[in-house]
Amino acid sequence: MDSLETQFEAILKNVQSYLPDPDLSILKKAYDFSLRAHREQLRAGGDPFIIHPLAVAKILSDLQLDVPTLAAGLLHDVLEDTNTSRETLCSEFGAEIASLVEGVTKIDSLEQVAWDPENLSFLSSSPEILKQAEYWRKMLLATAQDIRVILLKLADRKHNMQTLEFLTPEKRKKIAEETLTLYAPLANRLGMFKLKSSLEDLSLKYLDEQVYAALEKKIDEREVLREGFIRECVEKIQAALADQPIPYKISARPKNLYSVYRKMLRQGKPFEEIQDIIGIRLITDTIEHCYALLGAVQTSFTPVPDSFTDYIATPKNNLYQSLHITIQISRQEIVEVQIRTEEMNQICEYGVAAHWRYKEGGKSPAKKQQDSLEDKLDWIKQILEWQQDTKNPKEFLEWLKLELEFDQVFVFTPKGEVKKLPAGATPIDFAYAVHTDLGHQCIGSKVNGKMVRLDHPLKSGDMCQILTKKGQKPHKDWLEIVKTPRARSKIRKFLRENEEKGTRYRS
Ligand code: MN
Repeated sequence: MDSLETQFEAILKNVQSYLPDPDLSILKKAYDFSLRAHREQLRAGGDPFIIHPLAVAKILSDLQLDVPTLAAGLLHDVLEDTNTSRETLCSEFGAEIASLVEGVTKIDSLEQVAWDPENLSFLSSSPEILKQAEYWRKMLLATAQDIRVILLKLADRKHNMQTLEFLTPEKRKKIAEETLTLYAPLANRLGMFKLKSSLEDLSLKYLDEQVYAALEKKIDEREVLREGFIRECVEKIQAALADQPIPYKISARPKNLYSVYRKMLRQGKPFEEIQDIIGIRLITDTIEHCYALLGAVQTSFTPVPDSFTDYIATPKNNLYQSLHITIQISRQEIVEVQIRTEEMNQICEYGVAAHWRYKEGGKSPAKKQQDSLEDKLDWIKQILEWQQDTKNPKEFLEWLKLELEFDQVFVFTPKGEVKKLPAGATPIDFAYAVHTDLGHQCIGSKVNGKMVRLDHPLKSGDMCQILTKKGQKPHKDWLEIVKTPRARSKIRKFLRENEEKGTRYRS
Protein backbone atom coordinates (compact mmCIF):
# COMPACT_ATOMS: atom_id res chain seq x y z
CA MET A 1 0.00 0.00 0.00
CA ASP A 2 1.07 3.55 -0.61
CA SER A 3 2.47 5.48 2.32
CA LEU A 4 0.13 7.82 4.19
CA GLU A 5 1.89 10.83 2.71
CA THR A 6 1.44 9.53 -0.82
CA GLN A 7 -2.24 8.91 -0.19
CA PHE A 8 -2.69 12.42 1.13
CA GLU A 9 -0.78 13.87 -1.83
CA ALA A 10 -3.14 12.03 -4.16
CA ILE A 11 -6.09 13.84 -2.58
CA LEU A 12 -4.39 17.22 -2.98
CA LYS A 13 -3.64 16.44 -6.59
CA ASN A 14 -7.21 15.41 -7.16
CA VAL A 15 -8.60 18.64 -5.69
CA GLN A 16 -6.33 20.77 -7.83
CA SER A 17 -7.60 19.02 -10.93
CA TYR A 18 -11.18 20.24 -10.43
CA LEU A 19 -10.96 23.38 -8.26
CA PRO A 20 -9.29 26.54 -9.60
CA ASP A 21 -7.59 27.75 -6.43
CA PRO A 22 -8.23 25.41 -3.52
CA ASP A 23 -7.10 26.25 0.02
CA LEU A 24 -4.70 23.35 0.49
CA SER A 25 -3.40 24.63 3.82
CA ILE A 26 -6.70 23.87 5.55
CA LEU A 27 -6.57 20.31 4.21
CA LYS A 28 -3.01 19.94 5.44
CA LYS A 29 -4.05 21.24 8.82
CA ALA A 30 -7.03 18.87 8.98
CA TYR A 31 -4.83 15.94 8.04
CA ASP A 32 -2.25 16.76 10.74
CA PHE A 33 -4.97 17.29 13.33
CA SER A 34 -6.66 13.99 12.52
CA LEU A 35 -3.33 12.15 12.47
CA ARG A 36 -2.54 13.43 15.95
CA ALA A 37 -6.02 12.89 17.38
CA HIS A 38 -6.20 9.27 16.17
CA ARG A 39 -2.52 8.42 16.73
CA GLU A 40 -3.20 5.77 19.40
CA GLN A 41 -5.96 4.05 17.46
CA LEU A 42 -5.93 1.16 15.05
CA ARG A 43 -8.52 -0.02 12.57
CA ALA A 44 -10.00 -3.49 13.03
CA GLY A 45 -7.53 -4.82 10.45
CA GLY A 46 -4.53 -3.54 12.44
CA ASP A 47 -3.79 -0.53 10.23
CA PRO A 48 -3.30 2.90 11.77
CA PHE A 49 -6.70 4.55 12.08
CA ILE A 50 -5.79 7.51 9.88
CA ILE A 51 -6.10 5.37 6.75
CA HIS A 52 -9.86 5.49 7.24
CA PRO A 53 -10.38 9.29 7.22
CA LEU A 54 -7.84 9.47 4.41
CA ALA A 55 -9.81 6.97 2.33
CA VAL A 56 -13.06 8.82 3.06
CA ALA A 57 -11.52 12.12 1.92
CA LYS A 58 -10.26 10.39 -1.22
CA ILE A 59 -13.76 9.12 -2.05
CA LEU A 60 -15.12 12.65 -1.51
CA SER A 61 -12.48 14.08 -3.80
CA ASP A 62 -13.50 11.56 -6.46
CA LEU A 63 -16.98 13.05 -6.15
CA GLN A 64 -15.26 16.40 -6.72
CA LEU A 65 -16.58 18.02 -3.56
CA ASP A 66 -15.37 21.26 -2.03
CA VAL A 67 -12.53 21.86 0.44
CA PRO A 68 -14.67 22.11 3.62
CA THR A 69 -16.27 18.74 2.82
CA LEU A 70 -12.87 17.12 2.28
CA ALA A 71 -11.54 18.64 5.51
CA ALA A 72 -14.62 17.33 7.31
CA GLY A 73 -13.91 13.93 5.74
CA LEU A 74 -10.44 13.96 7.26
CA LEU A 75 -11.88 14.98 10.62
CA HIS A 76 -15.14 13.06 10.55
CA ASP A 77 -14.36 10.66 13.39
CA VAL A 78 -12.54 12.96 15.82
CA LEU A 79 -15.64 13.96 17.80
CA GLU A 80 -16.87 10.42 18.10
CA ASP A 81 -13.65 8.51 18.67
CA THR A 82 -11.21 10.95 20.30
CA ASN A 83 -11.50 13.45 23.12
CA THR A 84 -11.65 16.42 20.74
CA SER A 85 -14.47 18.79 21.62
CA ARG A 86 -16.75 20.64 19.26
CA GLU A 87 -15.36 23.93 20.58
CA THR A 88 -11.81 22.97 19.67
CA LEU A 89 -12.91 21.92 16.22
CA CYS A 90 -14.80 25.15 15.78
CA SER A 91 -11.94 27.40 16.85
CA GLU A 92 -9.39 25.48 14.77
CA PHE A 93 -11.43 24.98 11.61
CA GLY A 94 -14.42 27.30 11.75
CA ALA A 95 -18.15 26.70 12.15
CA GLU A 96 -18.77 25.28 8.68
CA ILE A 97 -16.35 22.37 8.99
CA ALA A 98 -17.25 21.80 12.65
CA SER A 99 -20.95 21.49 11.91
CA LEU A 100 -20.31 19.09 9.02
CA VAL A 101 -18.33 16.87 11.37
CA GLU A 102 -20.99 17.14 14.01
CA GLY A 103 -23.63 16.17 11.47
CA VAL A 104 -21.98 12.80 10.82
CA THR A 105 -21.22 12.09 14.46
CA LYS A 106 -23.38 9.37 15.96
CA ILE A 107 -25.31 9.79 19.14
CA ASP A 108 -24.30 7.36 21.80
CA SER A 109 -26.46 7.94 24.77
CA LEU A 110 -30.15 7.16 24.79
CA GLU A 111 -30.78 10.14 27.03
CA GLN A 112 -30.46 12.40 24.03
CA VAL A 113 -33.20 10.58 22.18
CA ALA A 114 -35.97 12.84 21.01
CA TRP A 115 -38.90 10.44 20.91
CA ASP A 116 -41.88 11.27 23.01
CA PRO A 117 -41.54 9.41 26.34
CA GLU A 118 -45.27 9.78 27.01
CA ASN A 119 -46.02 7.58 24.08
CA LEU A 120 -46.51 3.88 24.77
CA SER A 121 -45.33 2.60 21.42
CA PHE A 122 -42.05 4.29 22.21
CA LEU A 123 -41.61 1.97 25.21
CA SER A 124 -42.28 -1.15 23.19
CA SER A 125 -39.38 -0.44 20.84
CA SER A 126 -36.09 -2.12 21.56
CA PRO A 127 -33.17 0.15 22.48
CA GLU A 128 -31.52 -0.99 19.25
CA ILE A 129 -34.38 0.24 17.06
CA LEU A 130 -34.68 3.39 19.08
CA LYS A 131 -31.02 4.14 18.57
CA GLN A 132 -31.18 3.42 14.86
CA ALA A 133 -34.26 5.56 14.38
CA GLU A 134 -32.72 8.39 16.32
CA TYR A 135 -29.54 8.12 14.31
CA TRP A 136 -31.40 8.41 11.01
CA ARG A 137 -33.62 11.17 12.30
CA LYS A 138 -30.60 13.17 13.34
CA MET A 139 -28.79 12.55 10.10
CA LEU A 140 -31.76 13.57 7.96
CA LEU A 141 -32.15 16.68 10.05
CA ALA A 142 -28.52 17.60 9.41
CA THR A 143 -28.87 16.70 5.73
CA ALA A 144 -31.95 18.88 5.28
CA GLN A 145 -29.73 21.77 6.35
CA ASP A 146 -26.66 20.69 4.43
CA ILE A 147 -26.63 17.97 1.80
CA ARG A 148 -22.89 17.47 2.28
CA VAL A 149 -23.57 15.63 5.56
CA ILE A 150 -25.11 12.70 3.75
CA LEU A 151 -22.33 12.67 1.16
CA LEU A 152 -19.80 12.40 3.99
CA LYS A 153 -21.79 9.61 5.59
CA LEU A 154 -22.04 7.68 2.32
CA ALA A 155 -18.29 7.99 1.74
CA ASP A 156 -17.70 6.80 5.31
CA ARG A 157 -19.97 3.82 4.73
CA LYS A 158 -18.29 2.93 1.47
CA HIS A 159 -14.87 2.66 3.06
CA ASN A 160 -16.27 0.74 6.02
CA MET A 161 -17.84 -1.71 3.58
CA GLN A 162 -14.52 -2.06 1.76
CA THR A 163 -12.84 -3.06 5.02
CA LEU A 164 -15.64 -5.19 6.43
CA GLU A 165 -13.63 -8.40 6.22
CA PHE A 166 -11.86 -7.50 9.45
CA LEU A 167 -15.02 -7.60 11.56
CA THR A 168 -16.77 -10.60 13.11
CA PRO A 169 -19.25 -12.42 10.86
CA GLU A 170 -22.26 -11.18 12.86
CA LYS A 171 -21.15 -7.58 12.70
CA ARG A 172 -20.39 -7.89 9.01
CA LYS A 173 -23.84 -9.19 8.31
CA LYS A 174 -25.55 -6.51 10.33
CA ILE A 175 -23.65 -3.71 8.64
CA ALA A 176 -24.11 -5.21 5.18
CA GLU A 177 -27.84 -5.52 5.78
CA GLU A 178 -28.14 -1.93 6.89
CA THR A 179 -26.15 -0.86 3.85
CA LEU A 180 -28.39 -2.78 1.48
CA THR A 181 -31.69 -1.64 3.01
CA LEU A 182 -30.85 1.98 3.84
CA TYR A 183 -27.56 3.35 2.50
CA ALA A 184 -27.66 1.91 -1.04
CA PRO A 185 -31.31 3.01 -1.56
CA LEU A 186 -30.35 6.38 -0.15
CA ALA A 187 -27.46 6.71 -2.62
CA ASN A 188 -29.89 5.65 -5.32
CA ARG A 189 -32.48 8.15 -4.19
CA LEU A 190 -29.83 10.84 -4.37
CA GLY A 191 -28.96 9.72 -7.89
CA MET A 192 -25.46 8.55 -7.02
CA PHE A 193 -25.46 5.59 -9.27
CA LYS A 194 -21.81 4.57 -9.03
CA LEU A 195 -21.77 4.72 -5.25
CA LYS A 196 -25.07 2.86 -5.05
CA SER A 197 -23.77 0.06 -7.29
CA SER A 198 -20.61 -0.42 -5.27
CA LEU A 199 -22.52 -0.40 -1.96
CA GLU A 200 -24.90 -3.03 -3.32
CA ASP A 201 -22.16 -5.28 -4.62
CA LEU A 202 -20.19 -5.03 -1.38
CA SER A 203 -23.34 -5.82 0.64
CA LEU A 204 -24.11 -8.88 -1.41
CA LYS A 205 -20.53 -10.03 -0.96
CA TYR A 206 -20.98 -10.18 2.81
CA LEU A 207 -24.62 -11.20 2.95
CA ASP A 208 -24.24 -14.17 0.65
CA GLU A 209 -20.62 -14.96 -0.03
CA GLN A 210 -21.39 -18.06 -2.07
CA VAL A 211 -23.84 -16.40 -4.40
CA TYR A 212 -21.49 -13.48 -4.79
CA ALA A 213 -18.47 -15.63 -5.61
CA ALA A 214 -20.43 -17.78 -8.06
CA LEU A 215 -21.89 -14.77 -9.84
CA GLU A 216 -18.59 -12.98 -9.99
CA LYS A 217 -17.00 -16.00 -11.62
CA LYS A 218 -19.82 -16.46 -14.12
CA ILE A 219 -19.86 -12.82 -15.07
CA ASP A 220 -16.09 -12.88 -15.58
CA GLU A 221 -16.32 -15.97 -17.76
CA ARG A 222 -19.20 -14.62 -19.73
CA GLU A 223 -17.40 -11.35 -20.19
CA VAL A 224 -14.44 -13.05 -21.75
CA LEU A 225 -16.81 -14.90 -24.04
CA ARG A 226 -18.70 -11.73 -24.57
CA GLU A 227 -15.90 -9.38 -25.36
CA GLY A 228 -16.45 -10.20 -28.98
CA PHE A 229 -20.16 -9.68 -28.56
CA ILE A 230 -19.77 -6.29 -26.93
CA ARG A 231 -17.45 -5.17 -29.71
CA GLU A 232 -19.92 -6.45 -32.25
CA CYS A 233 -22.76 -4.48 -30.64
CA VAL A 234 -20.72 -1.30 -30.63
CA GLU A 235 -19.69 -1.78 -34.25
CA LYS A 236 -23.25 -2.47 -35.40
CA ILE A 237 -24.53 0.67 -33.74
CA GLN A 238 -21.65 2.73 -35.08
CA ALA A 239 -22.35 1.47 -38.58
CA ALA A 240 -26.03 2.33 -38.22
CA LEU A 241 -25.18 5.83 -37.08
CA ALA A 242 -22.39 6.41 -39.60
CA ASP A 243 -24.47 8.45 -42.04
CA GLN A 244 -25.96 10.89 -39.60
CA PRO A 245 -24.13 14.12 -38.68
CA ILE A 246 -24.64 14.21 -34.90
CA PRO A 247 -21.51 13.97 -32.75
CA TYR A 248 -21.62 11.26 -30.07
CA LYS A 249 -19.47 9.03 -27.89
CA ILE A 250 -20.29 5.37 -27.44
CA SER A 251 -19.39 3.06 -24.58
CA ALA A 252 -20.50 -0.36 -23.36
CA ARG A 253 -20.37 -1.75 -19.89
CA PRO A 254 -21.69 -4.72 -17.96
CA LYS A 255 -24.40 -4.00 -15.38
CA ASN A 256 -23.45 -4.27 -11.71
CA LEU A 257 -23.48 -7.65 -10.05
CA TYR A 258 -26.28 -6.97 -7.62
CA SER A 259 -28.63 -5.72 -10.33
CA VAL A 260 -28.03 -8.91 -12.30
CA TYR A 261 -28.74 -10.89 -9.12
CA ARG A 262 -31.97 -8.98 -8.55
CA LYS A 263 -33.02 -9.66 -12.11
CA MET A 264 -32.46 -13.39 -11.58
CA LEU A 265 -34.67 -13.31 -8.47
CA ARG A 266 -37.34 -11.21 -10.13
CA GLN A 267 -37.53 -13.28 -13.29
CA GLY A 268 -36.91 -16.58 -11.49
CA LYS A 269 -34.23 -17.48 -14.03
CA PRO A 270 -30.68 -18.83 -13.76
CA PHE A 271 -27.81 -16.55 -14.71
CA GLU A 272 -27.40 -18.19 -18.12
CA GLU A 273 -30.88 -17.11 -19.17
CA ILE A 274 -30.56 -13.50 -18.11
CA GLN A 275 -30.33 -11.27 -21.14
CA ASP A 276 -29.41 -7.70 -21.36
CA ILE A 277 -26.56 -7.66 -18.87
CA ILE A 278 -24.62 -5.05 -20.76
CA GLY A 279 -25.70 -1.52 -21.44
CA ILE A 280 -24.69 0.61 -24.42
CA ARG A 281 -24.41 4.30 -23.78
CA LEU A 282 -24.56 7.10 -26.32
CA ILE A 283 -23.50 10.52 -25.08
CA THR A 284 -24.07 13.64 -27.14
CA ASP A 285 -24.18 17.41 -26.66
CA THR A 286 -27.82 18.54 -26.68
CA ILE A 287 -31.28 17.19 -25.87
CA GLU A 288 -32.36 17.61 -29.51
CA HIS A 289 -29.47 15.39 -30.51
CA CYS A 290 -30.51 12.76 -27.97
CA TYR A 291 -33.88 12.41 -29.70
CA ALA A 292 -32.28 12.48 -33.14
CA LEU A 293 -29.95 9.62 -32.14
CA LEU A 294 -32.91 7.74 -30.73
CA GLY A 295 -34.68 8.09 -34.07
CA ALA A 296 -31.63 6.77 -35.90
CA VAL A 297 -31.37 3.76 -33.54
CA GLN A 298 -35.08 3.03 -33.90
CA THR A 299 -34.99 2.99 -37.67
CA SER A 300 -31.92 0.76 -37.85
CA PHE A 301 -32.90 -1.87 -35.29
CA THR A 302 -36.08 -3.52 -34.11
CA PRO A 303 -36.98 -2.16 -30.69
CA VAL A 304 -38.39 -4.56 -28.09
CA PRO A 305 -42.08 -3.60 -27.76
CA ASP A 306 -42.82 -1.18 -24.90
CA SER A 307 -39.15 -0.86 -24.04
CA PHE A 308 -38.84 2.87 -24.72
CA THR A 309 -38.72 5.06 -21.62
CA ASP A 310 -38.26 8.81 -21.79
CA TYR A 311 -36.51 9.83 -18.58
CA ILE A 312 -35.62 13.15 -20.19
CA ALA A 313 -39.21 14.36 -20.38
CA THR A 314 -39.99 12.70 -17.05
CA PRO A 315 -36.84 12.38 -14.93
CA LYS A 316 -36.72 9.67 -12.26
CA ASN A 317 -37.26 10.82 -8.70
CA ASN A 318 -33.52 10.65 -8.17
CA LEU A 319 -32.66 13.23 -10.88
CA TYR A 320 -31.74 10.58 -13.44
CA GLN A 321 -32.29 11.62 -17.05
CA SER A 322 -31.77 9.51 -20.14
CA LEU A 323 -33.60 7.90 -23.03
CA HIS A 324 -33.82 4.12 -22.71
CA ILE A 325 -34.61 1.71 -25.47
CA THR A 326 -34.00 -2.01 -25.74
CA ILE A 327 -33.23 -3.25 -29.23
CA GLN A 328 -32.82 -6.56 -30.96
CA ILE A 329 -29.15 -6.49 -31.87
CA SER A 330 -29.04 -9.97 -33.37
CA ARG A 331 -31.53 -12.81 -33.71
CA GLN A 332 -30.70 -14.07 -30.23
CA GLU A 333 -29.65 -11.01 -28.32
CA ILE A 334 -31.10 -7.80 -27.00
CA VAL A 335 -29.27 -4.83 -25.47
CA GLU A 336 -30.40 -1.70 -23.74
CA VAL A 337 -29.27 1.58 -25.27
CA GLN A 338 -29.15 4.67 -23.06
CA ILE A 339 -28.93 8.08 -24.70
CA ARG A 340 -28.11 11.26 -22.79
CA THR A 341 -26.15 14.52 -22.81
CA GLU A 342 -22.75 14.95 -21.15
CA GLU A 343 -24.29 16.97 -18.34
CA MET A 344 -26.97 14.34 -17.73
CA ASN A 345 -24.24 11.76 -17.67
CA GLN A 346 -22.46 13.60 -14.85
CA ILE A 347 -25.69 13.69 -12.90
CA CYS A 348 -26.42 10.03 -13.66
CA GLU A 349 -23.11 9.03 -12.16
CA TYR A 350 -22.74 11.53 -9.33
CA GLY A 351 -26.34 12.55 -8.61
CA VAL A 352 -26.78 15.25 -6.00
CA ALA A 353 -23.01 15.60 -5.72
CA ALA A 354 -22.97 16.89 -9.30
CA HIS A 355 -26.01 19.07 -8.71
CA TRP A 356 -24.45 20.51 -5.64
CA ARG A 357 -21.26 21.19 -7.57
CA TYR A 358 -23.12 23.00 -10.34
CA LYS A 359 -25.04 24.98 -7.80
CA GLU A 360 -22.06 26.05 -5.69
CA GLY A 361 -19.41 26.26 -8.34
CA GLY A 362 -21.39 28.49 -10.65
CA LYS A 363 -20.05 26.37 -13.48
CA SER A 364 -23.48 25.80 -14.88
CA PRO A 365 -25.77 27.78 -12.66
CA ALA A 366 -28.90 26.86 -14.58
CA LYS A 367 -31.76 28.12 -12.49
CA LYS A 368 -33.83 25.10 -13.35
CA GLN A 369 -31.27 22.79 -11.85
CA GLN A 370 -31.04 24.69 -8.62
CA ASP A 371 -34.78 24.47 -8.17
CA SER A 372 -34.66 20.84 -8.89
CA LEU A 373 -32.00 20.22 -6.24
CA GLU A 374 -34.21 21.88 -3.63
CA ASP A 375 -37.19 19.91 -4.96
CA LYS A 376 -35.32 16.68 -4.88
CA LEU A 377 -34.42 17.12 -1.25
CA ASP A 378 -37.92 18.05 -0.23
CA TRP A 379 -38.72 14.43 0.64
CA ILE A 380 -36.20 14.59 3.47
CA LYS A 381 -38.11 17.45 5.05
CA GLN A 382 -41.34 15.53 4.54
CA ILE A 383 -40.03 12.47 6.30
CA LEU A 384 -39.02 14.64 9.21
CA GLU A 385 -42.51 16.09 9.38
CA TRP A 386 -44.06 12.63 9.40
CA GLN A 387 -41.66 11.62 12.09
CA GLN A 388 -43.14 14.27 14.33
CA ASP A 389 -46.55 12.74 13.75
CA THR A 390 -45.65 9.17 14.42
CA LYS A 391 -43.65 9.20 17.65
CA ASN A 392 -42.96 5.56 16.90
CA PRO A 393 -39.32 4.82 16.05
CA LYS A 394 -40.06 1.49 14.39
CA GLU A 395 -42.68 2.99 12.14
CA PHE A 396 -40.37 5.84 11.28
CA LEU A 397 -37.71 3.39 10.09
CA GLU A 398 -40.30 1.55 8.03
CA TRP A 399 -41.43 4.77 6.39
CA LEU A 400 -37.90 5.70 5.65
CA LYS A 401 -37.28 2.37 3.92
CA LEU A 402 -40.50 2.72 1.95
CA GLU A 403 -39.69 6.25 0.95
CA LEU A 404 -36.25 5.23 -0.26
CA GLU A 405 -37.49 2.24 -2.18
CA PHE A 406 -40.42 3.57 -3.95
CA ASP A 407 -41.05 3.26 -7.60
CA GLN A 408 -43.26 6.13 -8.38
CA VAL A 409 -46.38 6.74 -10.42
CA PHE A 410 -47.54 10.10 -11.75
CA VAL A 411 -51.23 10.77 -11.26
CA PHE A 412 -53.13 13.82 -12.49
CA THR A 413 -55.74 15.91 -10.72
CA PRO A 414 -58.78 16.97 -12.79
CA LYS A 415 -57.04 20.34 -13.18
CA GLY A 416 -54.00 18.67 -14.74
CA GLU A 417 -51.69 19.00 -11.75
CA VAL A 418 -49.32 16.04 -11.26
CA LYS A 419 -48.90 14.17 -7.98
CA LYS A 420 -46.04 11.73 -7.49
CA LEU A 421 -46.99 8.67 -5.46
CA PRO A 422 -45.36 5.33 -4.66
CA ALA A 423 -46.37 2.41 -6.85
CA GLY A 424 -49.49 0.76 -5.43
CA ALA A 425 -50.86 4.02 -4.03
CA THR A 426 -54.67 4.28 -3.85
CA PRO A 427 -57.19 7.09 -4.43
CA ILE A 428 -57.09 7.75 -0.67
CA ASP A 429 -53.32 8.33 -0.85
CA PHE A 430 -53.94 10.61 -3.79
CA ALA A 431 -56.62 12.56 -1.92
CA TYR A 432 -54.31 13.11 1.05
CA ALA A 433 -51.50 14.12 -1.28
CA VAL A 434 -53.72 16.89 -2.66
CA HIS A 435 -55.15 18.13 0.62
CA THR A 436 -55.79 16.76 4.11
CA ASP A 437 -59.47 17.73 4.03
CA LEU A 438 -59.94 16.08 0.65
CA GLY A 439 -58.64 12.90 2.25
CA HIS A 440 -60.81 13.19 5.34
CA GLN A 441 -63.99 13.77 3.36
CA CYS A 442 -63.37 11.21 0.62
CA ILE A 443 -66.29 8.86 -0.11
CA GLY A 444 -65.40 7.58 -3.56
CA SER A 445 -63.22 8.05 -6.57
CA LYS A 446 -63.28 8.13 -10.33
CA VAL A 447 -60.21 7.17 -12.32
CA ASN A 448 -60.22 8.27 -15.95
CA GLY A 449 -63.94 8.91 -15.61
CA LYS A 450 -64.87 5.51 -14.17
CA MET A 451 -65.89 4.76 -10.58
CA VAL A 452 -63.27 2.66 -8.78
CA ARG A 453 -62.94 1.17 -5.31
CA LEU A 454 -60.93 3.12 -2.79
CA ASP A 455 -58.24 0.44 -2.75
CA HIS A 456 -57.75 0.63 -6.52
CA PRO A 457 -54.02 0.87 -7.34
CA LEU A 458 -53.28 3.98 -9.41
CA LYS A 459 -51.15 3.91 -12.53
CA SER A 460 -48.97 6.54 -14.16
CA GLY A 461 -51.00 8.85 -16.36
CA ASP A 462 -54.28 8.17 -14.52
CA MET A 463 -56.56 11.13 -13.95
CA CYS A 464 -58.04 10.78 -10.51
CA GLN A 465 -61.08 12.59 -9.20
CA ILE A 466 -62.09 12.41 -5.55
CA LEU A 467 -65.75 12.45 -4.54
CA THR A 468 -66.39 14.01 -1.16
CA LYS A 469 -69.21 14.51 1.29
CA LYS A 470 -69.23 17.11 3.99
CA GLY A 471 -69.08 15.59 7.46
CA GLN A 472 -67.50 12.39 6.16
CA LYS A 473 -64.71 11.07 8.40
CA PRO A 474 -61.72 8.81 7.79
CA HIS A 475 -62.32 5.11 8.38
CA LYS A 476 -60.09 3.02 10.58
CA ASP A 477 -59.75 0.36 7.88
CA TRP A 478 -58.28 2.89 5.49
CA LEU A 479 -55.09 2.31 7.44
CA GLU A 480 -54.96 -1.15 5.89
CA ILE A 481 -55.31 0.22 2.38
CA VAL A 482 -53.11 3.28 2.18
CA LYS A 483 -49.51 3.14 0.99
CA THR A 484 -48.13 6.57 1.81
CA PRO A 485 -46.85 7.62 5.22
CA ARG A 486 -48.57 10.96 4.70
CA ALA A 487 -52.05 9.44 4.38
CA ARG A 488 -51.42 7.04 7.23
CA SER A 489 -50.23 9.72 9.59
CA LYS A 490 -53.11 12.08 8.73
CA ILE A 491 -55.67 9.31 9.29
CA ARG A 492 -54.04 8.26 12.55
CA LYS A 493 -53.88 11.80 13.76
CA PHE A 494 -57.55 12.34 12.99
CA LEU A 495 -58.58 9.11 14.73
CA ARG A 496 -56.42 9.86 17.74
CA GLU A 497 -57.71 13.38 18.18
CA ASN A 498 -61.30 12.31 17.80
CA GLU A 499 -60.89 9.38 20.14
CA GLU A 500 -59.69 11.80 22.75
CA LYS A 501 -62.81 13.84 22.28
CA GLY A 502 -64.82 10.69 22.80
CA THR A 503 -66.22 10.67 19.31
CA ARG A 504 -67.28 7.32 17.90
CA TYR A 505 -67.02 6.55 14.28
CA ARG A 506 -68.00 3.78 11.98
CA SER A 507 -65.32 1.26 11.31
MN1 MN B 1 -15.78 6.82 9.92
